[in-house]
Amino acid sequence: MSEERLRSIEELGEFGLIAHLTKDLEKRQESTLKGVGDDAAVIDFGSQCQVVTTDMLVEGIHFDLMYTPLKHLGYKSVIVNISDVYAMNAVPRQITVSVAISGKFSVEALEQFYEGVKMACQQYGVDMVGGDTSASLTGLMISVTALGTAPKKEIVYRSGAKVNNLACVTGDLGAAYMGLQVLEREKKVFEEDSKTQPMLGDYEYVVGRFLKPEVRVETLLKLRELEVLPTSMIDISDGLSSELLHICKESDCGVVIYQEKLPISMEVQLAAAEFRLEPLIPVLNGGEDYELLFTVPLSAHDKVKSIPGISIIGNITEHKGTAIMMTEQGQAIALQAQGWQAYSR
Ligand SMILES: [Mg+2]
Repeated sequence: MSEERLRSIEELGEFGLIAHLTKDLEKRQESTLKGVGDDAAVIDFGSQCQVVTTDMLVEGIHFDLMYTPLKHLGYKSVIVNISDVYAMNAVPRQITVSVAISGKFSVEALEQFYEGVKMACQQYGVDMVGGDTSASLTGLMISVTALGTAPKKEIVYRSGAKVNNLACVTGDLGAAYMGLQVLEREKKVFEEDSKTQPMLGDYEYVVGRFLKPEVRVETLLKLRELEVLPTSMIDISDGLSSELLHICKESDCGVVIYQEKLPISMEVQLAAAEFRLEPLIPVLNGGEDYELLFTVPLSAHDKVKSIPGISIIGNITEHKGTAIMMTEQGQAIALQAQGWQAYSR
């Protein structure tokens, strides 16, 4: 018998695993314009395209019900999916929601979850058109699929960044990560003494960013209004460094960003100081902000500058596959991807 060594998933990591499992996929349909490898798949219907994306949320891996209200969880489950639709510069239209539920959940608890789903549908104008429910031995699992549409020439991929393009981000970064740190700390306090009430008052902003993220639709609308079509785009779900490297890989380019240009809210700075954390860590590697990272031609500089809530953080370079951050002291630091490491926990 051969002693073939079985590899652990940990060796490959999230992105390595995806690449490995999908490397032999054949394309049989002409309408499959883009398969695995972007925020969403793109299906060609002539001048219009449909984009499709799916995401799974698993109790104990992606969320902790100790501090995640089910209504927020329902809302967030929709947001993380339609965020990927918007990241293709498409408009979300429909979602399906599937859940696997263990016996510990009451009907009322599930009603709360679906209440959150409905709120997000209302907020973003999408219809929930189906799904599936199943029993689960342990915990809650949620799978949402989102469908969207866009004219073919307006779809924005990760692969379109060009040398000298400007790298831009919406909003501010690192807040969701700090929110998670606050919630984890309060959980520990509660576990030690269940009579204490959580102290979240000072952290409303960061906790809110973690529990109830939103998509920067107004920024996308403004770009459209000013006729700026990004050359590449991705949503920031795994952290800025990771997403910059995705753009570099798919666009076959490099990027340089400048520390002093990174958008950090006062709330993140204060929370990071209290946690004795260098604020750059949540900004570069904290995920789940669901801000958008995109590139535009240099010629769009003035238009982009005029839109509130966009920061120009750097530019695309020819140094393939390298993402560099210039610190305020003029030091060049190579950024590294994170992705999830759930299997190594
Ligand atoms: Mg994404």
